Amino acid sequence: MSIDKESNSLNDRIVYDITKFTHLDYPNHLACIVWFAGCNMRCDYCYNKEIVFAKNGNYSSNDVLDFLNTRVGLIDGVVLSGGEATSYDLVPLCKEIKKLGFKIKLDTNGTNFANLQTLCELDLIDYVALDYKAPAYKYQQITKSTKFNEFSTSLLYLMLCKIDFEVRTTVHPDLLDEDDINFIINDLLSRGYNKKYYLQKFLDTGDNIGNIHLSSKSIDESLLSKELEVVFR
Ligand code: SF4
Repeated sequence: MSIDKESNSLNDRIVYDITKFTHLDYPNHLACIVWFAGCNMRCDYCYNKEIVFAKNGNYSSNDVLDFLNTRVGLIDGVVLSGGEATSYDLVPLCKEIKKLGFKIKLDTNGTNFANLQTLCELDLIDYVALDYKAPAYKYQQITKSTKFNEFSTSLLYLMLCKIDFEVRTTVHPDLLDEDDINFIINDLLSRGYNKKYYLQKFLDTGDNIGNIHLSSKSIDESLLSKELEVVFR
């Protein structure tokens, strides 16, 4: 039986896996990564198929807290990722993580606005990496989700609140071209976004949701708008 995502408890197995250490995934922090099971999207380029399609996780939030108790003083951050972490009520877990003194970064596609807002208003999140998957006109094609408006609300909210955040886009040149990326840049500019904009290159692990591979094309960086600082990862 799958987890009730609205009222999950600290004992429910909602976590697929834990990466014990990363110095790459949380800017300026040594951290671990908590991978939550399940996702409300089906992005063509997604290589986390096992996590996305998992009905249940392998670990509970209490298991995560037991692990974190052994990491006090060794790491200083926790990355909540997935799958889509905001599919769950993360408030109880985040409150306990905060009691242990860790900073929390949330990786999210932004389509569960109410949960994101609650976490931010309770001051439980320190940094958000928000996926801007595609312009509205390509959003459903790439993600199989119709929730662009919810994502857009999350972006607007993050622009207005004080929480530090970044916007990032995974780019496969067969799915997004220079015009699409410039469309996103212009949208970000129109909303007042003036920080770095991260472009993540598609990683071909040989197994992804859309069964896609490396493109014969590449993004011509000289054609990208210079209005924002674009950083390739
Ligand atoms: S890449 Fe897409 S499908 Fe994969 S975890 Fe992220 S939002 Fe879900």
